[in-house]
Amino acid sequence: TDLVTTILSRIRDVPDYPQAGVVFKDITPLLADHTAFSAVIDALALDLDVDKVVGIEARGFILAAPVAYQAGAGFVPVRKKGKLPAETFEGSYDLEYGSAVIEVHRDAFAPGDRVLIVDDVLATGGTARAAVELVSRAGAEVVGFSVLMELAFLRGRDRLGDVDVRALVAV
Ligand code: IMP
Repeated sequence: TDLVTTILSRIRDVPDYPQAGVVFKDITPLLADHTAFSAVIDALALDLDVDKVVGIEARGFILAAPVAYQAGAGFVPVRKKGKLPAETFEGSYDLEYGSAVIEVHRDAFAPGDRVLIVDDVLATGGTARAAVELVSRAGAEVVGFSVLMELAFLRGRDRLGDVDVRALVAV
């Protein structure tokens, strides 16, 4: 579709970032283009019926906050450990070297809140899986996980069980 072409033309491949052999998908050209950015937000928010939209630090925030606004929902941040001020739940997940810990405020959700989680890129699915588990533990119902771009060859969606995973583009 037209939206797919627009998105693909505004995402830049950066070779050997953050390490040799990795081709990083840089979404900053898309964010800088109002027409492309607003079309992406509209597409992510289309027909949403949720109470909260969760953004994963840091690029997930940039997409999740306007999606929440557009959908008439609240915004909730999932952050790296040590950044949230009040009581949190935490979840850890493995990275290629070592592990990472993410947190969400314990009182971020009302029981049974319907929640969409948003991030920029779905790669191996480790971050997404940890976020789904964390949000579920905090008492919400995860109704979907949406990203701008999915690196389909990494099969990240296979780690998300029956969560409704949506990507505006897949490469
Ligand atoms: P995963 O946990 O391997 O699925 O990696 C996804 C997380 O890493 C997301 O939070 C992304 O923001 C980030 N990420 C991984 N690869 C890229 C990329 O090529 N561009 C932008 N973000 C990426």
